[in-house]
Amino acid sequence: MNQIQASAETPIVLDATDVVKNYGARKALDHIDISIRAGELVALLGPNGAGKTTLFQLLTGLFVPDGGTIRIGDADIRRNAVPALAGIGVVFQQPTLDLDLTVIGNLRFHANLHGLNGREAGSRIDTELAKLKLTDRARDPARALSGGQRRRIELARALLHRPSLLLMDEPTVGLDPASRRDLLNHVVRLCDERKMAVLWATHLVDEADHADRVVVLHQGKVLKVGSPRQLVEETGAANLHDAFVGLTGPESD
Ligand code: ATP
Repeated sequence: MNQIQASAETPIVLDATDVVKNYGARKALDHIDISIRAGELVALLGPNGAGKTTLFQLLTGLFVPDGGTIRIGDADIRRNAVPALAGIGVVFQQPTLDLDLTVIGNLRFHANLHGLNGREAGSRIDTELAKLKLTDRARDPARALSGGQRRRIELARALLHRPSLLLMDEPTVGLDPASRRDLLNHVVRLCDERKMAVLWATHLVDEADHADRVVVLHQGKVLKVGSPRQLVEETGAANLHDAFVGLTGPESD
């Protein structure tokens, strides 16, 4: 069994234990343990095919694991799906805005799904849009926004119901360097200010460098866990990039 341990003395928000997922004979996740505490940014760093998206599909209840348990806060995702899923905000790898709706229409739809209505929804939407510097685009159709702006709307949407765990699956794919940096900085602030637990999946080492802990996933197994500095020290590499390549082999693209 792979061991991943959080370090801080704060509540555990995500606790996944001995998680297994197979696609036929292929072991997509091979006995994974992962826990994240409030306020922690954990990077799930793995090359293509490592199992990152599969893990997200299990954490969001889209698929059921073949083995193991997943708890969000106090709720087991299989036994108590409603409170478990209510604690999660997700930004998926593929864009999921309705491009024909306005920005505010997209956000209101999501707020309604979570049982937020009227004033409360309006005030949370205003808050998140302001923090993401998108207030002036609220009435625009989502189609009129740039890729980076659309991603920020998806992040605002993921935060409306005040989740304790934010899941981001390769959220910077297709963004320019400035938009990538903005998104990452915003999420780092969410960890500090709202004590949100974040799992950020990526194959980009420079994004993992900003995490409190990095989980190196390869071919369905966790190879290493630690702060970026620990990973460099423990592998004897010159930097995190070299540590990652040393663990997982040469990059394929
Ligand atoms: P990427 O960075 O390319 O998105 P990933 O780390 O998210 O990769 P997954 O998409 O979780 O990796 O895939 C993990 C393994 O499971 C891969 O070998 C993939 O081919 C396989 N796999 C994923 N989904 C399916 C499926 N629906 N049926 C069969 N095999 C699958």
